[in-house]
Amino acid sequence: MTGGPRRGDRTRLTHTGRGGTRHHGVVNPPIYQASTVTFPDVATLKEAMRTPDRFVTYGRRGTPTTFALQDAIAALEGAGSTLLVPSGLAAITVALLASVGPGDHLLVVDSAYAPARTFCDTTLKQLGVEVTYYDPHIGAGIDGLFRRNTRAVFLESPGSITFEVQDVPAIAAVARARGAVSLIDNTWATPLFFKPLLLGVDVSIQAVTKYIGGHADLMMGAITASEPMLSKLRHWVYSMGLCAGPQDMYLALRGIRTLSARLAQHQQTAMQLATWLSQRPEVERVLYPPLPSDPGHRLWKSDFTGGSGLFGVLLKPFADNAVAAFIDGLELFGIGYSWGGFESLIVPQDPRQIRTAVPWQASGPLVRIHAGLEDPDDLRADLEAGLARLKKS
Ligand SMILES: *Cc1c(COP(=O)(O)O)cnc(C)c1O
Repeated sequence: MTGGPRRGDRTRLTHTGRGGTRHHGVVNPPIYQASTVTFPDVATLKEAMRTPDRFVTYGRRGTPTTFALQDAIAALEGAGSTLLVPSGLAAITVALLASVGPGDHLLVVDSAYAPARTFCDTTLKQLGVEVTYYDPHIGAGIDGLFRRNTRAVFLESPGSITFEVQDVPAIAAVARARGAVSLIDNTWATPLFFKPLLLGVDVSIQAVTKYIGGHADLMMGAITASEPMLSKLRHWVYSMGLCAGPQDMYLALRGIRTLSARLAQHQQTAMQLATWLSQRPEVERVLYPPLPSDPGHRLWKSDFTGGSGLFGVLLKPFADNAVAAFIDGLELFGIGYSWGGFESLIVPQDPRQIRTAVPWQASGPLVRIHAGLEDPDDLRADLEAGLARLKKS
């Protein structure tokens, strides 16, 4: 689907990247399982190597399966082109490598995904990159943290454990004025509910593993950007030999077709559970920006068009064994990391171990819930029985 009127997200999600009649009219583009690609003659081979973006030249450089998923994600982001890598974490690390080098300074939000922090504190440090973590609520005040050598700002909004919403347009504007690259981990909202590139951010990163995959059965990352950043990112992705597997790309393409229907339900159930939990006596506060009482609600409302199914529940002070009794007895919530699949999940989290710019101060334990596609009333009943165990232990 190219040219013509600019259509709505759900229409683009349904149609972009399908390949028209190219695949004999088959609705889902087939899986191209390829390393070698052959050419009819030397002249065609030479032309393909000169203009690789117009040809399929080698499996690692992309097949029609790759291009279909790239087109679908870029259409949703509303700008730029998309590169695919083997995991969400790889998308973050390669995008950072393309943005900073020895002697540079990098600003990273304190609420960033913990493995991204580990990469900054180990690999980037070894490469001679200085990293400063900043308060997620800093907004335009980030200008005060810029140094002569600050080359990039990394955002994640909201943070996937503590759920602070950042003032993305303000931070992106400061970065641009300072000649620095801005990059955001946009996994929580997905590009369906938040479009960073349209708000001035240079690079939008998505763990496809989560909601685009949507079925807890694949790992992939996507990086979307416009020129001139796109060429830099492409250089790094290609030179490091990163590529996503054909089967995973096919599954992600299947997943993205139903993203809008799934997210609408995840959002509705999360809102129901979050509202109910926020009124429970065992709960100190629910961390979910779509809740009107959430400190990030105003920013969320102005910049996002929806919320996903992931939220935090800050409990009143309870002992670890009581929290374990709450979680262990749940029948419908799996205990595990990751999220974005069709199933509900719960996991205890301790942000104290990862925060450095703004220490996490809470008097009680934090659990993170992913609201799946089950009947909301069943999820609520399961949690209600869990809260009874929490109090009894
Ligand atoms: C899961 C996750 C990632 C990493 O994705 P993987 O595919 O697991 O490597 C990055 N950022 C956020 C916010 C995530 O939740």
